Amino acid sequence: MTLLRNLMLLDGGCVDVALHGGVIASIAPAQGAADRLLIPGLINAHTHGHANLMKGVADRWLLESSLTHGPWMGGQRDAATIRFSTLLGAAEMLEAGCTACFDLFFEFPMPSAAGLLAAAEAYAEAGMRAVIAPMVADRTLFEAIPGLLDALPEDLRAQAARFRLPDAPTLLAALHEAFAIIPDLPPGITLALAPTIPHHCSDAFLAGCRAMADEFGLRLHTHAAESKLQALVARRLWGTGPVAHLDRHGLIGPHFTAAHAIWLDEGELDLLARRGASIAHMPASNLRLGNGVAPVAEWRARGIATGLGTDGCNSADSLDMFEAMRSAANLSRIRDVPRADWLHAAAVHAMATAGSAAVLGHAAPRIAVGAPADLVLLRLDHHAFVPLHDAATQIATGNAAGAVAEVFVAGRQVVRDGRCIATSGLDLRALSAAALADLTPRLAPSRALAMALEPHVADFAEYQSRAPLPFTRKLPTEHAA
Ligand SMILES: [Zn+2]
Repeated sequence: MTLLRNLMLLDGGCVDVALHGGVIASIAPAQGAADRLLIPGLINAHTHGHANLMKGVADRWLLESSLTHGPWMGGQRDAATIRFSTLLGAAEMLEAGCTACFDLFFEFPMPSAAGLLAAAEAYAEAGMRAVIAPMVADRTLFEAIPGLLDALPEDLRAQAARFRLPDAPTLLAALHEAFAIIPDLPPGITLALAPTIPHHCSDAFLAGCRAMADEFGLRLHTHAAESKLQALVARRLWGTGPVAHLDRHGLIGPHFTAAHAIWLDEGELDLLARRGASIAHMPASNLRLGNGVAPVAEWRARGIATGLGTDGCNSADSLDMFEAMRSAANLSRIRDVPRADWLHAAAVHAMATAGSAAVLGHAAPRIAVGAPADLVLLRLDHHAFVPLHDAATQIATGNAAGAVAEVFVAGRQVVRDGRCIATSGLDLRALSAAALADLTPRLAPSRALAMALEPHVADFAEYQSRAPLPFTRKLPTEHAA
């Protein structure tokens, strides 16, 4: 039994809370004055554990730049490196009050049981809940985007054309073998499947992913129309947007999450709503990669369950869910929508808890007797709360991640005095340096090739993206057509 005394609730009430058997055992009025604010653990609906070692590798990248660099950023990892990269992110998330995440896991050239288990063990060691979804595709960027290879200079074209990913049967067999670890997963860890980007997947591969999800009862999570180019390519390939294409293959349902969903059209949003699918919203990443402003008001008008995420450290750099809440709230005000459609603090907090829980397939977090004891205690003497006018607003409008004092997951204390207990005895800086000292030379050739390719890919993406769509997600400039 753990007893937590003198906690303020978001409604201003002050309580003592007892934890027992992984759940909240009792809640009683407190005798003393509150010095901590109690909130349910935040949930990161979309991140990439492999990218935790890739903070700051780039500045002005388009999404397509990031995809060009993808193979080396997640490549050549042994189980120990996968484990460390995952642990680094888990510690960062826990210290910022996040108790569960959806990790789109990347292992190049294909996922393995050992790699998935290494990631699972890292989350378990940190004491965080996670859904881990191998992110897979059977087509390279250069095979997936019509005309891209032809736009490259001759020497680079030959090298890019030689890139190959494992074919659909090989990948599906590897996934099938990897999912055999499901019974051995630590408590709090489950697996899902992430066919990464629709046009990076052949029809046969999508069909295989759907069958695999049925067989193992897996949730599906796919980047959908993250950039304008992705929406344009989908129309060129299939005459529809990417969600409509996935629906033709039977992938869209209550178990499906569309990540980013910036450049989906109204019909695709209707479809997501009709099928009971969810969306993962990553405002900081969308800003960082210049992908535009997601039509959150249109999602909400349709009642689509929307979770909030940070994305990976190569496109967001920070795994701070308080920053995600604040970005989501502020960004909703940049669009020409009525003030009633601006996201208020309670709405972004609901996204970061109940909405993200829907993406993970978890129950909505609650502070109630019998609910899982996934709890965050915030210091009320932190700048974000001094002075305190309205705690429910200030968790979203302030910068409250630094106020995290203690975190509990399933009743186990995982953060003390603001530090992740599992990593507090480790020199993470030295371990990161050692991991990169080992990885960097091995990754150098593929990184060098990506650096040579990237300017051409970005030029191509920018030029192609000038083609019109019947809607826009970017602020037009005065001289725009
Ligand atoms: Zn992603």
